Order: sequence, then C-alpha cells, then structure tokens
Amino acid sequence: MAIRETAVSYYGMSYVEHAERDFTEIADHGCTTVILAITEFDLDFWFPSIPKIVDAAKKKGLRVLLDPWGIGKYFGGEQISLFLQNNTRHRQVSAFTGEQLPHACFNTNSFRDYFRNFCLKLARETNADGFFWDEPHYALPKSYASITGGAGDDWACRCGECMKKFESYYGYEMPRIMNDDVKQFRWREALFILEDTSRLIKQINPKSEITCCVHATMNTYYVTEQRGYDNWDMVAASPYFDVFSTTIIAWELPMRFFREITARTVAAAKKYNKQSERWIMNYFKQPEDFAQMDDVVDLYDSLGVDRLAAWTYRGGYGTSLAAPDALKLWDRLGENYRRILKR
Ligand SMILES: [Zn+2]
Repeated sequence: MAIRETAVSYYGMSYVEHAERDFTEIADHGCTTVILAITEFDLDFWFPSIPKIVDAAKKKGLRVLLDPWGIGKYFGGEQISLFLQNNTRHRQVSAFTGEQLPHACFNTNSFRDYFRNFCLKLARETNADGFFWDEPHYALPKSYASITGGAGDDWACRCGECMKKFESYYGYEMPRIMNDDVKQFRWREALFILEDTSRLIKQINPKSEITCCVHATMNTYYVTEQRGYDNWDMVAASPYFDVFSTTIIAWELPMRFFREITARTVAAAKKYNKQSERWIMNYFKQPEDFAQMDDVVDLYDSLGVDRLAAWTYRGGYGTSLAAPDALKLWDRLGENYRRILKR
C-alpha cells in the first residue's frame, strides 16, 4: 500500500477567479485533494460562488471535499455559527450546572434538519466528490481525565430533548452522573446525524465519498475524551463512511504518540475495510526542526496510512492562526506531498 491522496484545507469562499489562482498553487504543492471549509455564513451569503469554486478546483485536477466547517460549533473550527445566532434554543446543556452552552445540540430535530439541509444543498448544487466530517463532538468533556476522576466529570448534553429521548429509551430519568447507558446513548445519537445525512448524500450521488474525522484521542482503558466519537469501532464500522480519519497531533508531542495514534487509526480502518487518513499540522505551530515533518510523513507511510491531509493552505498565512514561518511550512508540506506520491 502507498499513500495516494494528499489533501489540504482551504477557506474563504468568495471570488472564483481568486480561488482559481490558489488552486494552481495547491496543485503545484502536490495536493490531489482540496477540502473546502464552508462556513454557515458562506452558505448563506456566498452561495452563488460555491459551485463555481468547486468546478474551478476540479478543472485544476483536484478532488473536492466539502467540510461544513465549525457548523453549530458541533464540528471543529474557528468560524462563528449562524444557527446559534438565530436560535435561542436547541443548545447543549451542562449535566452538572444545567446551563446552556454555546454549542448546538445535534440530537435535536432542529439542528439535525439544519445540518441535513446545509449538506444536501451542497450535494445537489455542486459537483463535489464528497464530504468531510470535521471533528464532530459534544461540548463537554474534552480535558485529559485523570484516572481518579476530576477534570472531565461534567458532560453534555442534558437538554430537554436529550433527556426525553433517553427516558423513553431506557425507562428512567437521564442521570447527572455519566453511566454506561449515558455513554451508549451519546455514542448512538452522535452517530445518527452523520449517518442519516451521509445516507441522503449518497442517494443524491452514490459516488459521493464520506470521510469521518474524529479526535486523535488516547482512548486507553483509563482515559477517553468522551466527546461522542471516541468509540472508534462504532465510527469505523459505519457503512455510510468511506474513510476513517483522525485529527492533527501537535508537533511537540513525542513521536511515540504519533506512532500509537496512527497504528490504531490504520487498524480501525482496515478492520472495517475503510481507507485510513492521518493529518499534519500546517498552521499555528511548526516543528522546531522542519525535518520532523519529513519523519512524520515517513512514519505515516510506513504504518500503512492511505491518505494524508493538512490544515491548512499556506500554513494559515494571513490569519491569527498562522504558523510563525507559514509560507515555509507550506512549501515543506508541498515537498513532502510530491515526494510521497512518487513512491
Ligand atoms: Zn441535547
């Protein structure tokens, strides 16, 4: 096996003629795929440009995946959410304090409809090759839980709609302390919104490819993040997803961590006959020695990863999350992508 797909994310859906020039640069950097990070504002305001931008990327020979970036603050990302702006309800609720959180509850019919309509509009009206589910998650918890409890104890979502669903299924009030029923409920409901939308996308275009990208969590006997998609078996086994992907690992983490996460990502994907994908951090921070990127790419390749992806175009140049040497980092990514595709 060898790495055959190399992706980079791209944002700023505005003028197609500007995007065209950027896609030339992206193709020159050895990318086979561009992941368009489409915000709620883009869909609402810039929609007429989006199908043209997709076509422009395809004309340059790039595959195009659509990422409903940061939608409802349910997916990862810095974008702001129109759903949260336009709805005072349907938010996740802290189990411990009962407070509403600034995250849409994706177990509500309201957000499920919103998400489905967002994606199906894109599926119907663009020629994209597929969709990218980008770090979906419950608001809480996320911290590294201690093996004796503590930091990660509070959780979401215990909103009225989740409580009603839980009680009708399990026959008792949803508890405030997370038990095994709550864990199972959270996993099942979290998967529903993505599977339902993926299924409908594939009805519109059976060739549409779905990548589900979950947090690169430790997932050991003692420690999991409990953000709803940390049961990798459940995610990778889903018949609606084609690629099992795990997110960026910070450069300063030990190589052993890269190895462990990657080996488990590949194993989970293989077990369910899916493609595996690993990410490269190409924004915000950079390795002390850029040669670390070469080593990580070689490691991913040696462990049997099928696809590479990087966040983001030009190392985040021009944004508040640019890497210190953003353009150099971007060029190093390009060198690595071109090198790995030759193998
Ligand atoms: Zn809820």
